Amino acid sequence: MNIASKCVVSMHYKLTNEEGEELDSSDGRDPLKYLHGASNIVPGLEKALEGKSAGDSVQVVVQPEEGYGDVNPQMVQTVPRSAFEGAPEIKAGMQFQAQGPQGEAQLITVTEVSGDEVTVDGNHPLAGQVLHFDVTVEEVRAATEEEISHGHAH
Ligand code: ZN
Repeated sequence: MNIASKCVVSMHYKLTNEEGEELDSSDGRDPLKYLHGASNIVPGLEKALEGKSAGDSVQVVVQPEEGYGDVNPQMVQTVPRSAFEGAPEIKAGMQFQAQGPQGEAQLITVTEVSGDEVTVDGNHPLAGQVLHFDVTVEEVRAATEEEISHGHAH
């Protein structure tokens, strides 16, 4: 079976950056499952996997515009510490789940804490990065009705 819309794909993957540093991988874990054609994975990788089948290996270099987008400087903001009322100690590197303008889940990273001011970055941690994927397709199967209606693999 070849990868097309409404297929559930299981794959092992390794993601490295331009410098060859490993950013993420499924090594030692179950293969990653996703619903093809539902924007579950970045567009550049989804495109490269179209038409492939179990056993195929794919190496693809994904530019930011087909990955996690460019870094948007407007998404870096300085807010008062009081904005984090109820949160424990605020430190650089902490991440919060917030709601984006369209109600979507957005990951906010604290990049600096200075006195009463906290700098937060709402860009995806991989925004602006060229992504090198090394993928092996493990399994391709038809998605169930339920998976298609949910927009993700089960
Ligand atoms: Zn579901």
